[in-house]
Amino acid sequence: MKPIVTRFPPSPTGFLHIGGARTALFNWLYARKTGGKFILRIEDTDEARSTKDSVDAILEALQWLGIDWDEGPYFQTERKEIYSRYIEKLVETGHAYYCSCTPDEVNTMREAARAKGLKPMYNGRCREQGLAWADNTVVRLKTPVTGVTVVEDIVKGDTAFQNAEMDDFIIQRSDGSAMYNLAVVVDDLTMGINTIIRGDDHLINTPKQILIYRALGADLPAFGHVPMVLGPDKARLSKRHGAMSVDEYRKMGYLPDAVINYLVRLGWSHGDQEFFTRMDLIEKFDLEHLGRSASMFDMEKMTALNAKHIQAKEPGALAPFVLPHLQDLGIDACDDTFTSKVIETLQPRSKTLVEMAAAARFYYVDEPELDEKAAAKFLTSEAAAMLIQAADDIEALPEFTQAALEDVFTKIMADSGLGFGKIAQPLRVAVTGTTVSPGIFEMLLALGKDKTVQRIRRAVAWIQNQ
Ligand code: GLU
Repeated sequence: MKPIVTRFPPSPTGFLHIGGARTALFNWLYARKTGGKFILRIEDTDEARSTKDSVDAILEALQWLGIDWDEGPYFQTERKEIYSRYIEKLVETGHAYYCSCTPDEVNTMREAARAKGLKPMYNGRCREQGLAWADNTVVRLKTPVTGVTVVEDIVKGDTAFQNAEMDDFIIQRSDGSAMYNLAVVVDDLTMGINTIIRGDDHLINTPKQILIYRALGADLPAFGHVPMVLGPDKARLSKRHGAMSVDEYRKMGYLPDAVINYLVRLGWSHGDQEFFTRMDLIEKFDLEHLGRSASMFDMEKMTALNAKHIQAKEPGALAPFVLPHLQDLGIDACDDTFTSKVIETLQPRSKTLVEMAAAARFYYVDEPELDEKAAAKFLTSEAAAMLIQAADDIEALPEFTQAALEDVFTKIMADSGLGFGKIAQPLRVAVTGTTVSPGIFEMLLALGKDKTVQRIRRAVAWIQNQ
């Protein structure tokens, strides 16, 4: 069997939309799963709306998601000569022809068809004229007049389109530029694409593309049109439903693995499994389980999945994703064992990396700011003696371990008659500045002995200054 070759052909007129990312993902996964090839092509023929910034944004978003390509990016604007060659070939073989009808004349034909209750279309006037190229001629494809063109779709099954309802559509404009459907087919053909998975908003183009393949005497690729992603109100997902670009999710502290996991589940299933690692997906993805009905985007589900991915990763593997968010808070942390320890304490309690970075802040700053309410409640003159003892005892520890810390607590409880909470809470406020933090022992162990002692003594000084 020939290797599978898939593609992602974004139009660079904006950021990478999460719907587009899902399409890229399906194609990428299928290529990776089958050991095939995934090609990236930039469909920038709409030169007025295409921008270099969009190209960069799309490439960066794909890279961030870990969707890598084996070939490309190819740019349609650099392939104009190839399209011309194929158009000439279609004319030479009698599958296409020059048409000199003006736009006004074509409009009149459309009106005439409409008046007869028919679909408004070009009436084929130049079809058998054998016209040569001239200024202002377009090229039209000779489409079959009767019968049907059937799109055999992996996802939707067969859809038949009446040929009588398709006119001889334009494949080359009068300025010599190729029309969209022609360019797509020539690209897919010359790039060896044999599997096309795309949104069902493109299904309308597929019969035209099939007719171009046939006119070129080429084999058809396999097509799969996936339903669009919907918002919670069942309307097509759009800006008013919230964040739409992959980059926004990066900024909000989502992990690429979580985004991928969530997006793939919007339209593909594997039993009732919800959590997938990247390797899992590559192993299990198939086209048979692409769903026929549209799925709804649910931010809460995606966030819950993000929390699971945050928990599932090794702290060291998570660090490169957390560091930029720490940087956003002005914290210049590095990917070292301290950061790994910090991350480990926060993994069970962070839904996003933004939350994690905010919660990690106290570990890195020299003097965590004291929350007023917490300080007033827990850093009291009654707590001072206990805190001094804690600082002294911890400082004297030959080894800073969980067992040693537990012993310090047991001793202070016995000496002071205070319960565990009455010791842990003032200590937590002393060290973190707030009442919310990871478990006291794991947190102190991650912070390290020196900083722990220093912060407790600072809190004691603060109490004494009140
Ligand atoms: N460039 C098209 C888009 O961005 C994709 C076309 C295709 O998949 O055939 O929607």
